[in-house]
Amino acid sequence: MKKILVCPVCKSKDITLDTGGITGKYVCKNCGYIGSVVLELTEGEYRELLEAEKLEKEAERKLRSKSKMEEFRD
Ligand SMILES: [Zn+2]
Repeated sequence: MKKILVCPVCKSKDITLDTGGITGKYVCKNCGYIGSVVLELTEGEYRELLEAEKLEKEAERKLRSKSKMEEFRD
């Protein structure tokens, strides 16, 4: 199955191998991350990752907005 390279910092798929692949390092075009470690995920795993991130952010937002007494209803 085809794997997607994902930036461990910003979770962008915009990852490319360093020029000519001489250093063997990956470069993230989105945040400028350079390193030998990237996430290798399948399409499904990547979607799960994004979903988990989204839930995390939503949880954070809920915590922050608690003082404002905001309600998020479906
Ligand atoms: Zn990045």
